[in-house]
Amino acid sequence: EDDFPTAMDVLTDKVLDGLLSSEFDKSSCLSRYQSVAYRKESAHKPSSYLISRLRSYEALHRRCGPYTQSYNKTVEKLMSGQHTEISECNYVVWISFSGLGNRILTLASAFLYALLTNRVLLVDRGVDMADLFCEPFPKVSWLLPSDFPIANQFNNFDQKSPHSYGNMLKRNPVGNSTLQFSYLHLAHDYDDQDKLFFCDQDQTSIQKVPWLIMKTDNYFIPSLFLIPSFEQELNNLFPEKETVFHFLGRYLFHPTNPVWGLISRYYQAYLAKADEKIGLQIRVFDTGTGPFQYVLDQILACSLKEKLLPEINQNEDIGSLPLNQKTKAVLMTSLNAGYFERVRDIYWEFPTVTGEVIGVYQPSHEEYQQTEKHVHNRKAWAEMYLLSLTDKLVTSSWSTFGYVAQGLGGLKPWILYKPENQTAPDPPCRRAMSMEPCFHAPPFYDCKRKTGVDTGALVPHVRHCEDMSWGLKLV
Ligand code: GDP
Repeated sequence: EDDFPTAMDVLTDKVLDGLLSSEFDKSSCLSRYQSVAYRKESAHKPSSYLISRLRSYEALHRRCGPYTQSYNKTVEKLMSGQHTEISECNYVVWISFSGLGNRILTLASAFLYALLTNRVLLVDRGVDMADLFCEPFPKVSWLLPSDFPIANQFNNFDQKSPHSYGNMLKRNPVGNSTLQFSYLHLAHDYDDQDKLFFCDQDQTSIQKVPWLIMKTDNYFIPSLFLIPSFEQELNNLFPEKETVFHFLGRYLFHPTNPVWGLISRYYQAYLAKADEKIGLQIRVFDTGTGPFQYVLDQILACSLKEKLLPEINQNEDIGSLPLNQKTKAVLMTSLNAGYFERVRDIYWEFPTVTGEVIGVYQPSHEEYQQTEKHVHNRKAWAEMYLLSLTDKLVTSSWSTFGYVAQGLGGLKPWILYKPENQTAPDPPCRRAMSMEPCFHAPPFYDCKRKTGVDTGALVPHVRHCEDMSWGLKLV
């Protein structure tokens, strides 16, 4: 273990201010220890309460994790359908669903829910979860064993499933306290009954179900902050509300060694030596094949207006320009290579008015979103992570890919407004209120009064998002 750089050795006792357990084998997951050499130190410190709850969660996970005695017992009960004595071990099973950015956000949401309800989080490995992420808890795996009895039903679970909590309520409004498992459908197409998950009263009945199987493509944490029975605990865990995903993300998501190779090699080759690193995350949801001129216009307008990139000098009279050896590295990510090529060419063809030297880099251009392909998702994960290592970040509206980068990086990004009618919006972008992700499909329901309510106007720390007027985010 002596072959690691010495800067990291001092950190072995207290990894990330105590956020990470010190009980891991280092070589199995290099990123866990080496990332400190690539990141600026976080401006935020985890609360001592969060640290102690993480350590006690790890102990619970060790007692209840896959193939422990308690796990085997509750699986038996699940198969026999008998409801006997209450076990210490209750579970949330997270189903692998949707794009990688979405998955990272929902996994963090499921973990916080598990922490709040003293459940153990188990992860459906899907096609490539084990290929992308190191085990976050010491000694016992977070992966759901593939012989889990109802794993073969996960693909069929959807809004219509009779097993869903919402549909069960429709059949039996008083609830059924003897269920062995319940399917929580928290995806974007969930209905009013499914949304009752976010009511205290429903949490009380859900509490009795040993196995909760959850499918979601949403970062639902903002709405957990509106459930009265979780309020105090969340306050203690996160005195600074905007650090929720920042800490949960840094705690849970460590790239596996192959992905860490993609990240560290790229970083060393193109980013490390620059005086400043700028991230530009371009995600275009419009149909048709880009690149689109209005998107390029918007990227440049935002970068120049916010002084993230310098203006160019078009008279080519380079003799009179200030001599400034400062370098900026611009890391662009996009499915398309076109935006990157144009920005790169601009700074090649013309000098900057400041004399700064601008290098523009884009790791991949995968053309379209692909599922079930290992290298594709490895690259996507590596790129989110690389963006998180920049000093200043520009992101695209509605993109969970960008949310992951900003949260891990502890960065308040400039968000490019979503273009309407194929025109660059004016202003092109705005600074985010906080580094938190946006919950895209929150409920608007007052559980006590049983009426609609604007959930973005109830407390000062849960607001509507900058990039989606009906979304909710923590600030
Ligand atoms: P979202 O759709 O922007 O919210 O982000 P997701 O990550 O959930 O889904 C988009 C998927 O498209 C990613 O997981 C990648 O597979 C792919 N993708 C989108 N943008 C990029 C990019 O800039 N680079 C790479 N490598 N993949 C991308």
